[in-house]
Amino acid sequence: MTERVFNFSAGPAVLPESVLLQAQRDLFALPGVGMSILEVSHRSAAFEQVISEAEADLRALLAIPDNYKVLFLQGGASLQFSMVPINLLPAGGSADYILTGSWGQGAFKEAKKLGSVREAASTAATNFDRLPAPGEINLDPQAAYLHFTSNETIFGVEFQEEPVAGDLPLVCDMSSDFISRPVDVSRYGLIYAGAQKNAGPAGTTIVIVREDLLGKAPASTPAMLDYQNLAKNGSMYNTPPCFSIYICGLVFKWLRHEIGGLDKVLALNREKAQILYDAIDSSDGYYRGHAQKDCRSLMNVTFRLPSEDLEKRFIKEATAAGLDGLKGHRSVGGLRASIYNAFPRAGVEKLVDFMEDFRRKA
Ligand SMILES: *Cc1c(COP(=O)(O)O)cnc(C)c1O
Repeated sequence: MTERVFNFSAGPAVLPESVLLQAQRDLFALPGVGMSILEVSHRSAAFEQVISEAEADLRALLAIPDNYKVLFLQGGASLQFSMVPINLLPAGGSADYILTGSWGQGAFKEAKKLGSVREAASTAATNFDRLPAPGEINLDPQAAYLHFTSNETIFGVEFQEEPVAGDLPLVCDMSSDFISRPVDVSRYGLIYAGAQKNAGPAGTTIVIVREDLLGKAPASTPAMLDYQNLAKNGSMYNTPPCFSIYICGLVFKWLRHEIGGLDKVLALNREKAQILYDAIDSSDGYYRGHAQKDCRSLMNVTFRLPSEDLEKRFIKEATAAGLDGLKGHRSVGGLRASIYNAFPRAGVEKLVDFMEDFRRKA
């Protein structure tokens, strides 16, 4: 078998090896079906089973209450930046946004094209190295919803609990920490997540929406953008991204049965992040974390070296050593180690050893 490297990519990202091996084994013909998942009709009983099992496993993982719909959509998390206001922001109404990084800014920018939106808080002044304190969040009690980004993938800041939203429906872009820990879904109006960070491959976006928020889109809304229509058709108003949904389903089973659920995966994620942050904090200032300590992400660890030259050399040598995808996003610079659910602890340990060696030689 071809050897695998440690993949620190922010997304698409590492998948569990057992999922890849099962997909490989069953790719030629799904057991009992005699056709590949790539060939099977989305209207067939075989695919019905794939999508309903994926939904059931996700419902079990997150304990999703019965009054929420689970949708498997297309267009990425980026299309949700528009679909959320199209469906939830009434004419003449306004929505609040908390901005803690580029993705929140992106959501805000798209919503602005469709209606009235307010910045309830922003940490742009310090290049998104922190979360707003509760007292900094200025809510409009009349807002249609409060949008936030639970984990800002580029800057590496993550909410450990929901911002206080009063009576406003909370809407969350959970793309990069979805199913990385337990979440009380009943506190949310709507959760969305592009699959390609933690849940599966690119191609599907998962939306969890409270039923009373459906049916609010204006009559002019295109059918493909109307949550109610998509929910009514069980995510199959048109051909769904069958393969991506299939792999997500295998990942959910892996999380439930091999890992043992979201409490377990959170404990593993905490351990991995701790090893890496400890290496940064004990480097006598050689490595400098971007996010303030109490806002640090368990998923995306962002840090700098003393100079850009050293950062370039680090990335080059790390890549050669089988530590791939560590280059940070240009808006932060430096390095970013994305260590999602499926990223093995051994890869974090190897990175930490590499960091030690690199610092000693420099
Ligand atoms: C990756 C990412 C997105 C964009 O997802 P697409 O599926 O590429 O549209 C949006 N929000 C967050 C938090 C992300 O990490």
